[in-house]
Amino acid sequence: MKHNFGAGPCILPQDVFQDAAKAVLDFNGLSLLEVSHRSSDFVAVMEEAQSLVKKALNVPNGYSVLFLQGGASLGFTISALNMMRNTKSAGYINTGTWAKGAINEAKAVGIDVNVFASSEDQNFNYIPKNSIVPNGVDFIHYTSNNTIFGTQFQEIINTDLPLVCDMSSDIFSKQVDVSKFDIIYAGAQKNLGPAGATLFIVKDEILGKSSSSFMPKYLNLKNHVDKGSMLNTPPVFSVYTSMLNLRHLIENGGVTAAASRNEAKAKALYNEIDSNPLFKSAVQGIDRSKMNATFLLTNDTLKDQFDTMWNEAGIIGLKGHRSVGGYRASMYNALTIESVNVLTEIMKEFTRKNG
Ligand SMILES: *Cc1c(COP(=O)(O)O)cnc(C)c1O
Repeated sequence: MKHNFGAGPCILPQDVFQDAAKAVLDFNGLSLLEVSHRSSDFVAVMEEAQSLVKKALNVPNGYSVLFLQGGASLGFTISALNMMRNTKSAGYINTGTWAKGAINEAKAVGIDVNVFASSEDQNFNYIPKNSIVPNGVDFIHYTSNNTIFGTQFQEIINTDLPLVCDMSSDIFSKQVDVSKFDIIYAGAQKNLGPAGATLFIVKDEILGKSSSSFMPKYLNLKNHVDKGSMLNTPPVFSVYTSMLNLRHLIENGGVTAAASRNEAKAKALYNEIDSNPLFKSAVQGIDRSKMNATFLLTNDTLKDQFDTMWNEAGIIGLKGHRSVGGYRASMYNALTIESVNVLTEIMKEFTRKNG
């Protein structure tokens, strides 16, 4: 039995893997991988996936759901291009690697970026607070959960300006008020499905209003909405498997139930990190992510011993990102509390041996 704490691609429920595997072999008589994306069978899959996203997140009327390609990385460009208006300026919050990626891509398409809040001074180990959100810019952008550094916004940014959010690593982990956002985007592979699809939830009002003179057809969200997310061949396997995972989520109580499971998992792990003298959290207090917990050993000479122990317990993907070091336990929706308990037991045993 493996316990996959990997940061992405994500763990998915075993039932979802099995049903996805079946469809690769037999999807109404053909392989899912060979059916036309224009066939009524696949169009039904796309429509169900879109409607399950709306159902899971209570998406209000006036929003469209798209499954595009290019990952959240192309989402940086797409969101900036589609939100560019008269001032060609925007406010961005810099909370780490992915936020910086978004800032760089906005600059690359000609946006004058005002980084009005940043946690770079402390290697991104906190969420900047009480920052003054600029007025008179076209839109505001932030990253709700910082996958690498293990920080997470607990509140939506308060602004009257159009709001854009990269929710790659915490979408579907808890309820979110979609009506506050103009664009939400997320690479599928962190909490939704296999890599290949990028989810966009777009307020229809913003479509077709970009002031950018550079607007390739694929990057214009209006074209995708007009074609029902079938402007070109969609990533069929990723969309299908995401649909299965959304069905599974809704059958198991939806995001509200997922949120309480995620709370319980995060609490169990952070309690152990805080009470165990051989570990320390890389992030403090309320800013800690419920999806990605980053932590360090207090005594680095014990690293090999701890690594051997968790590897032997079947734990996968616990190594921290090089920008933080130490360990990172990603606890996406499909990771069970039992897996978290295996990890906390190993941490306890490790400390008993070295106490
Ligand atoms: C993983 C990740 C990205 C990059 O996603 P790709 O789909 O690989 O481009 C961007 N933002 C966040 C928050 C992420 O976790």
